[in-house]
Amino acid sequence: MNIAFIAHDKKKDDLVRFTIAYEGVLKSHTLYSTGTTGFRIMEETSLNLHRYKSGPLGGDQQIGAMIAENKMDLVIFFKDPLTAQPHEPDISALIRLCDVYSIPLATNMATAEVLLSGLKRGEFKWREILKEKNRNEN
Ligand code: PGA
Repeated sequence: MNIAFIAHDKKKDDLVRFTIAYEGVLKSHTLYSTGTTGFRIMEETSLNLHRYKSGPLGGDQQIGAMIAENKMDLVIFFKDPLTAQPHEPDISALIRLCDVYSIPLATNMATAEVLLSGLKRGEFKWREILKEKNRNEN
């Protein structure tokens, strides 16, 4: 599965702790992130991530492009709802694309826990089936 991680600055510590807790599950997947988020995760875990640009510099849009191409299977986005973000339009666009393509998206730790438990149990196999179907159609 291709999984994307994004965290706003005040949520980065939480996301790092989350990835430490789920490192065992995450290491068998292909991981992507915005720039600083990925840097922090790689600093504190043994996980390898493909890091896109920092969010305010276009990283959210780069992850959005993967969603539009149906290449992202799961998005974990620890949003900070109490701080204004300069790239708010990019954030809304990313969330919108997850809804357009029915991509599982967690915007807080409680939901992320549920999604990761599902991932552990193999409940996202339907994504592989859908991608295979799309490949055959194109
Ligand atoms: P960052 O971007 O990981 O580069 O900090 C996240 C964001 O603010 O969208």
